[in-house]
Amino acid sequence: MELITGKDNKILRTQAEPVDKITPEIRELIRKMKKIMKASNGVGLAAPQIGIQKQIFVAELLYEGEENGIFYAVINPKITNISKEKEKLEEGCLSLPKLYGEVERPKKIQIEYLDEMGKKKRLKASGLLARIFQHEIDHLNGGLFVDKVKEIKQLT
Ligand code: ZN
Repeated sequence: MELITGKDNKILRTQAEPVDKITPEIRELIRKMKKIMKASNGVGLAAPQIGIQKQIFVAELLYEGEENGIFYAVINPKITNISKEKEKLEEGCLSLPKLYGEVERPKKIQIEYLDEMGKKKRLKASGLLARIFQHEIDHLNGGLFVDKVKEIKQLT
């Protein structure tokens, strides 16, 4: 499985389908996504980024100097609340190599989702985690961070 890239790539611009049953194949997919994310030094990866139109993403919150952080496997996420307060943070994306830019988003969110065992989870997130979750949920809706950036910066 390879990473799909390009801001006009149709695969990245398609609404992903909800997962109706969490099977061993889904768990295997999640393991693969985790591997690809870590091999690419990413903090998040959504299934459409490897060409699979399902509402699944993985994320890992790393702490400085540590190799493994807190890992999240998120299936069928729904944002149930957002803070009025917003903040601007720089984002990049494994599907848009070398592009960066500041994106303004709600500072805190509350989401509901299923984990890889099918257990319903409810989570309040702020800071970097809220940022990663919102970026990945955009992917599941065919959105990319560059849609929300005023000034796109390119690494040369
Ligand atoms: Zn991304």
